[in-house]
Amino acid sequence: MPDLAANMVAAVGGFQIQNMMMRYNLFMPRLYNWCISLGFEPGKIMPSRAFCSDESQGYPVIMIARHFGAFPFNHGRVGGIVATSRHGPHAEHGQDLVIIQASHVGYDPESKLFGSYRRLQTTDQECGPNCGKIHHVITWYENEYQFAQQNILLHMHQGKKCITIDNQLLREDRSEGLLLHINSLVETNKSGQQVPIKILSTARMFTASSEIINLVGDEAFTGTKPQPIGANLTGNLFYFRRDILNIDEGENHLEHNMIRYMPQIITARSPMLTAAQINTQIEFDRTFRTIVKEHGYKGKKVLFISGLNIDISPEEGQLFPLTKFIPWAAYIQDRDGSYSTMEQAQLMQKLEQQSTSNPDTIDMEAAIQSMTEAKEVKIEI
Ligand SMILES: [Zn+2]
Repeated sequence: MPDLAANMVAAVGGFQIQNMMMRYNLFMPRLYNWCISLGFEPGKIMPSRAFCSDESQGYPVIMIARHFGAFPFNHGRVGGIVATSRHGPHAEHGQDLVIIQASHVGYDPESKLFGSYRRLQTTDQECGPNCGKIHHVITWYENEYQFAQQNILLHMHQGKKCITIDNQLLREDRSEGLLLHINSLVETNKSGQQVPIKILSTARMFTASSEIINLVGDEAFTGTKPQPIGANLTGNLFYFRRDILNIDEGENHLEHNMIRYMPQIITARSPMLTAAQINTQIEFDRTFRTIVKEHGYKGKKVLFISGLNIDISPEEGQLFPLTKFIPWAAYIQDRDGSYSTMEQAQLMQKLEQQSTSNPDTIDMEAAIQSMTEAKEVKIEI
């Protein structure tokens, strides 16, 4: 089991959203033109995508095919995890290689909420969670958090500001659950121990620490009855422990990526957005090294770009979402083995410098028509 009790987990930061979005109909020709400017050869590029299996990712896939003139190789696992074991086959399928990785999140323009997406093919075209995999993973953590929010109480007792904590939350030997940074919540005595003022049937009462009093303010303690700590239980006051079967790029890979950032994710304004963003950051960081080391990519031009797909919920009559891409980082490798990475601001600038017109765009309708009209090939058995 990974050591998830680390108190000093740095929050993932640096991901800008404002002024960083680009619609796919602009992103894709720009990406293609950037590749050409790097010496990639038209007609010899094998694009690949590492997207979630969600059908909402279909429009970006179509746009990749349209602009690169080839259906993209599939490098993706559910949740936007990169299947790095597929590098070898991808490398064999093209002279020059492109990989686009994106985690995704829905956006409902009516409610202006992230994480929701209208499923037009459901009976009543209802909205559901998107990314569904991320939603599924974070639900357990949200439940644990909600329990803690309701079962840590702030109140006055004999003129002192006190905090009453549920017994289960105080048990540090649990193999899974939300664990508190107890020193931040409860006053410690001279020997560094937290001694309860009162032992109740399902909880213990302590003197509140000056840290928590400063954080929540005096008024949080003055209710006529004990008040749940609620939203004042901020991400720096707890962490999670869970025994996740960790198989690289297996079913639990996404959860494994995110568990140490869960306090930050579930207390964020838009947890699904923050989760997708963090997953993109972790996947870029993890994947770029596997490309550097991949034998099949040696001597080849490779461009690997990571970002976030924002699936704007389709309105009635729209076949696809209006997906926007937020670039995060890129890795560029040349045939001589030299490589560099590009950070978000520089990457955005580089993409914006590219033309949005792509003379190599394929006409999908015409391509399908010519397949329909082509002379039949008899398969001999
Ligand atoms: Zn998904």
